[in-house]
Amino acid sequence: MPDNAIEVRDLTKAYREVVAVGSISFEVRRGEVFSLLGPNGAGKSTAISVISGLLQPDSGDARVMGHSVTKESMAARRCMGVVPQEVALYNDMSARENLVFWGRMYGLSGRNLERRVDEMLKAVGLTDRQKGRVATYSGGMKRRVNIAAALLHTPQVVIMDEPTVGIDPQSRRHILDYVKELNRQGMSVLYTTHYMEEAEELSNRIAIMDKGKVIACGTRDELVRLVGEQARVDLAVTGEPEEAAEAWRKVAGVSRATVEQGRVAVLAGDSNAVVPRLFERAAQLGFRIGSVEIREPNLETVFLALTGRALRD
Ligand code: ADP
Repeated sequence: MPDNAIEVRDLTKAYREVVAVGSISFEVRRGEVFSLLGPNGAGKSTAISVISGLLQPDSGDARVMGHSVTKESMAARRCMGVVPQEVALYNDMSARENLVFWGRMYGLSGRNLERRVDEMLKAVGLTDRQKGRVATYSGGMKRRVNIAAALLHTPQVVIMDEPTVGIDPQSRRHILDYVKELNRQGMSVLYTTHYMEEAEELSNRIAIMDKGKVIACGTRDELVRLVGEQARVDLAVTGEPEEAAEAWRKVAGVSRATVEQGRVAVLAGDSNAVVPRLFERAAQLGFRIGSVEIREPNLETVFLALTGRALRD
């Protein structure tokens, strides 16, 4: 078995003059959840469409479980389940009928098909609602049927394109938990999102995409270290904040202490090591700390540092 579930090499795809994906490379290791994180228009869907065989690349290639998506597309497709952004279901049929239809397309039949449909309905929490027409489902329920359809043929890799956009919080929670459960069972996952929290919660590694390029790739902590971002601790003190800032500047691990709007803002690489020292020094000097707020750097700060723009539109 190949080490990488997906390998993307120098992949380029343009729509006329718009270069949606410009020579990107990354790999999804076997057994990991890998996220493409980027704002709308970054090129995530285009990348996913090429990897899943829906679009031909202009140049470059992708391999899924070792199979080239351009030269061995059938073999590649058998290894992956794809959850596209657009829900593709028959509204007049029930969830179960939709899944049976999909299962037949994948070549499943008889007992095996019925068993897989049952398993997948249960997995996405729709066993009780399986006989209702899809037209009566919420957006989140439809998305869950789509996920079930993508997994019927027991693929080794699943690719999900922003599966939580525009759905209710309950379905969102369900989908995130299910991605984690799938991964625990050994599934390799390529996930795209523009929500920083989802990428942080789910991923072993993350590629940050912007304007058709992968601008950084690594674990969450590697990405944060890459831009040298520090935690910020805001403290309200009794007495003169300037005096507190002056004293805290000399505390080990503090790289900056300034007064902002009456509070002391301390920058530190390791907030959890530094905060107790700030308290200790405050006690020695006889002033009290009334409130403490720690803001750890996150992927939003990383995106801002790399592009000068916020991740959210
Ligand atoms: P994302 O999934 O990150 O939002 P997309 O891959 O959908 O990004 O879009 C990348 C770029 O390609 C955007 O500039 C978008 O406007 C453009 N684009 C996407 N699909 C098409 C298309 N079918 N025709 C023309 N341009 C497109």
